[in-house]
Amino acid sequence: MSAKRTPPFKVAGERIPLGQSRDVRLTISETYTGDKVRVPLRVIRARKPGPCIFITAAIHGDEVNGTGIIHDFLFGDAVNLKCGTLILAPVVNVFGFESHERYLPDRRDLNRSFPGTKRGGLASRIAYTLMTELVDKCDFGIDLHTAAFQRTNFPNIRADLTNPDARRLAEAFGCMMVVDGKGPLGSFRREATKRGCPTIILEAGEPWKIEPSILQIGTQGIRNVLSVLGMLDAPLLRPPFLAKVRKTQWIRATVGGILKFHVSPGDFVEDGQAIVTNYSIMGVEQSVLTSPANGIILGMATMPAVKPGEPICNIATLTSKQLQRYRMKMAQAKTDPHAQAQTDLATSMDVVVA
Ligand SMILES: [Zn+2]
Repeated sequence: MSAKRTPPFKVAGERIPLGQSRDVRLTISETYTGDKVRVPLRVIRARKPGPCIFITAAIHGDEVNGTGIIHDFLFGDAVNLKCGTLILAPVVNVFGFESHERYLPDRRDLNRSFPGTKRGGLASRIAYTLMTELVDKCDFGIDLHTAAFQRTNFPNIRADLTNPDARRLAEAFGCMMVVDGKGPLGSFRREATKRGCPTIILEAGEPWKIEPSILQIGTQGIRNVLSVLGMLDAPLLRPPFLAKVRKTQWIRATVGGILKFHVSPGDFVEDGQAIVTNYSIMGVEQSVLTSPANGIILGMATMPAVKPGEPICNIATLTSKQLQRYRMKMAQAKTDPHAQAQTDLATSMDVVVA
């Protein structure tokens, strides 16, 4: 796997030679008052050529766990790359980040606007700039996300596993769960992969937070990927197991009420197992929702008040053999310090007051 680019290597119009690290700002738009809106980037280049990879966060402006993960690489000791180029973008959707919102000011979802066009709408132009200025200069990408508003995700990688390089990155990252698929139309990772820059995403935790456990898993995952690409000397830490799933399904509220959960993100569940009890506001039990399949709890609502049809719990479906195997590996891993962050998380992610 060799570098796609040869010098001169320019980002945001600035030439950055091998062996140098530089902070640059990529102009993506303008404010009403005509000031430039710029994405902050750190470009780190090793002395030796090699792969070029971007790490992006907050394409959804309220998903700041990824910003925290990248931030961890920005302060303290410089990342000591053996070869290649690392481009860190702690905040992509600067508009949304400023207002703690997922979307752009025109309510468009930037992560459904790729690849964009030069003369399109606001979102389309920003997407186009990111494709030409970032994706086209890189060989690989990792895009960091969290669950949407009032939900949390057990850390999982999403990638198109039919793409060998995306698969390699997904397996290297070190999450216990990989959800296989190309991603929604217009999403950054789908269009970047299609353009020849295999890109995976991390979905982990809640919006509006930098969660320490997610930070630990995210930073380790990035180190794992850089290590597998030969860019960093770092011990490769493996998860207790790696479940590759294609099917996930949401359990939805049938009546309005207050939820009491019986499971947490990362829990193994069996077909028919009670997931949540829905009580009326006056405390009368209204329904007990059960798991429609064997699986792992991938995502959950963090808001216990629901209306009919609202999503409550996202289950990644497993066969009974997989369930049995992963349960056993999880039990073994409890004594393995390398797998500690994830096993601890799987037993501590109680997000809703029971
Ligand atoms: Zn997102």
